[in-house]
Formats: sequence, C-alpha cells, structure tokens
Amino acid sequence: MPDIVLTNVTKKWDRFYAVDNLNLVIDDNAFVTLLGPSGCGKTTTLRMIAGLETPTSGRITIGGTTVFDSEAGINVPANKRRVGFLFQNYALWPNMTVYKNIAFGLSNIKEDLPVIDDGALAAAGQLRVLENLPDMLKIIEESKDKSGKIDADKAALHLIDGFEISAGSAKDLLNLRIHESLEPNSVAAAKADKLRAELEAARKKHAASGHVLNERFELVKDGKVLTKTRKLSAEEIDLKVRKVARIVKIGMFMDRYPSELSGGQQQRVAIARTLAPEPSVLFMDEPLSNLDAKLRLEMRSELQRLHIDTGSTFIYVTHDQMEAMTLASKICLINNGVLQQYAAPLDVYNKPVNLFAADFVGSPAINFIQASGTGQNGASTALSVLDGIKAVFTPNGAEIEKAPEVIQAPDKSNKDVVFRPNIPNVEYTDEAARVAEDAEYILGVRPEYIRIDGKSGIEGEIYSSMPTGMETTVRIRVGNHLLTGVVFGGVLYRIGQRVRVSFETDGIILFDGKGGGMIAQGSLSI
Ligand code: ATP
Repeated sequence: MPDIVLTNVTKKWDRFYAVDNLNLVIDDNAFVTLLGPSGCGKTTTLRMIAGLETPTSGRITIGGTTVFDSEAGINVPANKRRVGFLFQNYALWPNMTVYKNIAFGLSNIKEDLPVIDDGALAAAGQLRVLENLPDMLKIIEESKDKSGKIDADKAALHLIDGFEISAGSAKDLLNLRIHESLEPNSVAAAKADKLRAELEAARKKHAASGHVLNERFELVKDGKVLTKTRKLSAEEIDLKVRKVARIVKIGMFMDRYPSELSGGQQQRVAIARTLAPEPSVLFMDEPLSNLDAKLRLEMRSELQRLHIDTGSTFIYVTHDQMEAMTLASKICLINNGVLQQYAAPLDVYNKPVNLFAADFVGSPAINFIQASGTGQNGASTALSVLDGIKAVFTPNGAEIEKAPEVIQAPDKSNKDVVFRPNIPNVEYTDEAARVAEDAEYILGVRPEYIRIDGKSGIEGEIYSSMPTGMETTVRIRVGNHLLTGVVFGGVLYRIGQRVRVSFETDGIILFDGKGGGMIAQGSLSI
C-alpha cells in the first residue's frame, strides 16, 4: 500500500483550530507515531485519515486514491478505506470465544473478492503436510500428554501453525490415524495420491471453462484474476483467523472466552481481530494505556514485530514520548494543532527543531540554560550563562532542520504562542521559573552530556541523587539553578557533595530565545 499524503489539512470547531494546516507524507510500511500533549490534535488527525472525522479543509490521499478533498467534494467513508482500528477500549464480545471474536468480522465482509476454488485450496494444504510425513508424525508425537495419550487439540493446533492449514484440514489429517498405522508411509501415500487426483480434476474442470488456477487457487482468465462480490468461505475465514492467531501467539486460547484470559492476552485477541481482514493501514489510539507497565513493554515489542510481520502501515497515537521513541520509524510531533517536527525518533532527540520538541522528547528532560550573547568571534559565540559565567559556544557544522512553516490563519488565536520551557530553580515555583520572554539564547543540554566527575568546570553541589541500579539521575545545584545529569551505573553521591560540572559533547543545542527555533548544535567550553 503506497503513501498516505495529507495536504493542508485543517480541522476547526467554530473558531478553534484542533489541527492547523497539516502537511504530512506517511510512507508505505512506516510506523508513524502521532505524539504530543493532551488536546494537541493527535486523535483528530488520526480520525481524519481514517475517515471518522471530516476535515474542514484540505486533501487526503491513501495509496494514490483521494479519500478526502474539500474542494472536489470527495469524502470516502471509513469502511471503504481498507483500514483497521485498535483503540484503548477494545471491548471483545464476552459471549463469543476467541475464535468467534476474530472470525465474526470476517464473516460480515462482503466485497469484490477473487473467486477461489476452496476444495483445491484445502487439498493442496493437506498434500503439503503429507509430503512432509516425518514432520507431521513428529508434531503428533510431541503432542502426547504425560500418560502418553495424544492430545488431539494440541496436535491439530501444531499442524495448523506448522503447515499453515485450516482447522478442517488438520482434523481430516488426524482422522486418517496415520500415526497409529503399522504402514504409515503407504497410508499417507494413498491419501496423497487421492488429493493429487482431486487437484488434477479441479484443474481440468476449470480449464474446460477457460480458467487456470494460480498459486493461491484463484481463478484466472486471460491473465486476470476473476472476482465477484461475495462473502469469505469458511476455509478462507479459518485460514485468516489461524494466520493472525499465529502472529500474536494466541492459537492455544481459541476456545476460551475473553473472561478466561489475562489483560495482555485479551489485548492480543483484539489485535488479532483488527489484523484479520488484512488492513493496509492500521490505526491505533493509545492501545496499550490500559495495561500495566510490564505488559505494556512486552506489547510494545510485540507491536514492533507485528509491524514487520504484517507489512502494514501503522499509525499510532500516544502522548507517551518513550512509547513514541521506541516504536516509531518516524515521530510526528504536534503541539497546539500545529506540526512541530516530523522525523526519525533519534533525530527528534538529537536535533530537535525547537524548544518544544527538545522539551517534549527525552526522559529525564533536557536541561535548558538561558544565555546572553556577549560577542561573536568567527563561528563561535561568547555567552554569559548561569548568572554571569563566561562560556563559548562553537557550532559543529551539522546541518540544521528547519521547523515546519506554519501559515497563520487570520482568525487564529491559539497558535501564536511560542512555547516557553520550564527552567528548574531552587527558589521559584515551576510557573515563575519559566524561561524569560526576553532570553537572547537558550542552550539545551541532554542529561547524559553533563559530566560531574572532572577536575575542571563550573562549581556546583549535589542537590539530589537517585540511583536506579543501571543509572543514577543526579540534580546539581549551580547557584540557584538546577541541572539534571545521568550517570551510568549505581553511583552513590552525597547530598551537598561539591562537584565540577562540564559539558563534554558537541551535541549541545543553541536555540533562539525569542522564536524558540534551533540555531546550531555544537560544544560549550567554560
Ligand atoms: P488526548 O491525548 O487527550 O486524547 P489529543 O491530542 O488526541 O488529546 P484531540 O482529541 O485530537 O486531542 O483534540 C484536539 C482538540 O480538539 C482538543 O482541544 C479538543 O478539546 C478539541 N475537540 C475534539 N473534539 C471536539 C469536538 N467534537 N468539538 C469541539 N472540540 C473538540
């Protein structure tokens, strides 16, 4: 499925801009997270692409097809956009088994589909198994319980998963009882011959009406796959259910009811249900927020794998920057309905286009230090920081990405505000400590770049120290200012301990204090 393109998409409620002139290209197969604080317009953006919300203006194309165009009057409904949804409240049907929960949606699909020879499809599946008789017998052997009796359900499940066949085919094969026969090879060979004859007869029958069967057992005439408006057959539904169950590893729960599953297992069923119709785009709105921290971590890794396995495009809404960082191939960072930065997670982290992006991504948060310029010497800028300390900022020459241009609408009131980050200070409340409106420059220093074990640097003292085992987060007091550093390992610092602070990196970011945009990245010598 090719790109999703948003061109000048705006959503207004009365005079309020929920999404303002958004331009975005989401590549095929991307995993894009829509990230931003509560109320910034993430869900609205997702819903507009999905067709659940009508934009006020703009154009959206999915795979080259225009699904919305305010000027041309095009608005394709959600159910015609071949997209899947996974929301926070995924509500499985409690009175249906896991299997039915997944299959139910599939049985309602009625659309233009390839005409398939179901019988031939099933016969080919069974033949595949019989042609690998040793593997089949091994699977059955491994499905014995403690008393040595074969667990038929387990054997069926392993055949279904191992050979990608339907439940009906697995049952037929087990009913042959090859594993109990004294002559397993000849029983298997006899059945295989029968299946080959069936396949041959099917091919002949179709050839008589001018059709050939392709490798998916679809009918092809003159090089074109024959289609008709129809429902999925039981065999197709079963194969699809089994396929997604295999991907999210819930094959063993198929006959259980949702109340008999843990939260994480239910979530996996919900994901399977969404994936079953093979949507080319999968929309997820904070799907993991109901899960506990450990499970969330586990599901994140599952989602990452799922993205690769399905080859679908994933669009994922979250306000959790860690989730966005770890999952996405690209982060779309929004504030106040306005796109701030659209880049790979590490680019947003290392090269934030403005103060908002720098502040929103990273935990612990980036340190902001107000600075005034006292002179320009070639490429370097002499600065005064932290109440009069002299420092020199030298750019590293890296290319700077410009923040996306925002075309301000004339009646807009909520988009003109420049983000003012918080600057921690031992004396002020959070509000009072916001960066001064007239700061000339603001330096952004990631906590991992702060060194406190050197012999030279700014004098400071340990304000607090929080070892987690793997790393220690320290807050250092410099005058009345507080800087946050992260030191690898479980280092113990004494509160009040005198330290020297230095910045050993060329990854410090110089921002324009007024507009908030990034000016350069470089090093800071004191
Ligand atoms: P959250 O993370 O809290 O879910 P979000 O970024 O997804 O937030 P949206 O749900 O997209 O935010 O909402 C964007 C803005 O649009 C919010 O300020 C919200 O109050 C407003 N909004 C959403 N729906 C409507 C509506 N139907 N009528 C008026 N305003 C709305």
